[in-house]
Amino acid sequence: MLKEDENILVEGAQKIGIEFNKAYLEGFSQYLDLLIKWNQKINLTSLKTSSEIIIKHFLDSIACIKVINQYIHLEEINIIDVGTGAGFPGIPIKIVYPSIKLSLLEAKKKKIIFLEKLIEKLNLKKVKILNGRAETFGRCSDYREKYDLVISRAVAPLNILSEYCLPLVRIGGLFIAQKGRSYPEETEKGINTINFLGGELIKVENIQVPFIKQERYVLVIRKIKNTPLGYPRREGVPQKRPLHF
Ligand code: SAM
Repeated sequence: MLKEDENILVEGAQKIGIEFNKAYLEGFSQYLDLLIKWNQKINLTSLKTSSEIIIKHFLDSIACIKVINQYIHLEEINIIDVGTGAGFPGIPIKIVYPSIKLSLLEAKKKKIIFLEKLIEKLNLKKVKILNGRAETFGRCSDYREKYDLVISRAVAPLNILSEYCLPLVRIGGLFIAQKGRSYPEETEKGINTINFLGGELIKVENIQVPFIKQERYVLVIRKIKNTPLGYPRREGVPQKRPLHF
């Protein structure tokens, strides 16, 4: 990693409240190299420069850590990142908290191949890669209501996303959604769906991502009762016919 990129990463992390060490730097540096290399072959990110990737993917992914830690300790817990794409936000969180058990769920096979390579290169332990759709995993007893924390970024509007994510959260666990300034409309539209699926919105935190002007919010949703049987609906249905009450 170039010295100037390293400075952006370390300074940005400090602003978020994370002190970087050698292992973090090594992990992010290898991630950056592999992402840029593979992005020439398959479309993993539209961001082209290394500083953009550091700010809009790496720092944006770890900016929610402080909020999460107020509700659940990021140690040895079972986390699933739904629609992880090239690993965001799951892998940056795993680099900073290596003891978490992380599942990366992604529908697209070519992204899975990248994720496999990435896990191998970064030598990450306790990471599972799941290829398929959230609707399928949410209906399967091995995964349904098994996670302490379900996290997702840039996958779907909140009402649809809740149907993907809430079935996977154990009772008492959390669903964390990272959203932009559309969060008030999305929340208004999705709040009854969240409640219907067993969740309760307990907090919306306005966070600052270093070097980014846009507003960012972290929605903290607690699972307070079981998701009704029959939800999530079959693959593609949540998107085609979003729930609204
Ligand atoms: N979370 C990553 C990020 O923040 O960079 C990727 C965002 S990308 C815009 C959305 C990803 O979610 C895509 O890779 C897509 O294949 C995946 N996806 C969308 N719906 C999904 C579903 N129902 N189950 C699993 N993956 C899904």
